[in-house]
Amino acid sequence: MSDSCLFCRIVAGELPSTVVYENDLVIAIRDINPVAPVHVLVLTKEHYDDIVDLGERSPEASAALIEAVASVAQIEQVAEPGFRTTFNTGVQGGQTVDHVHAHVIGRRQLSTSLG
Ligand code: 5GP
Ligand code: ZN
Repeated sequence: MSDSCLFCRIVAGELPSTVVYENDLVIAIRDINPVAPVHVLVLTKEHYDDIVDLGERSPEASAALIEAVASVAQIEQVAEPGFRTTFNTGVQGGQTVDHVHAHVIGRRQLSTSLG
């Protein structure tokens, strides 16, 4: 837990969020500024800076995060017809909160361009 990390503070319950799914390792919340009708953020409860840090340090939390993406897709009913999952990483990747999170975005047709 980092006092200066926004998502650590959400995980700790110090800041409000709308929880979609939760287990011992991860929590999924609605994005405060959604870009589509479904826009959920899946966070690890422990702090990892980004997907590189997570992947290097915790296979268990990495698997839990992927499993939670699948659960969120089912809960939000976007597994069909489909959705997008992204991990923005670092400055050039467009990451603005330095606590690893998967975006789960859907319920509208998304562009085929990722740029
Ligand atoms: P990033 O740009 O790091 O990939 O994504 C950060 C996401 O966090 C953005 O989509 C932004 O809208 C969302 N966000 C920023 N602050 C908050 C907050 O206080 N609560 C929630 N639920 N989402 C937030
Ligand atoms: Zn954090």
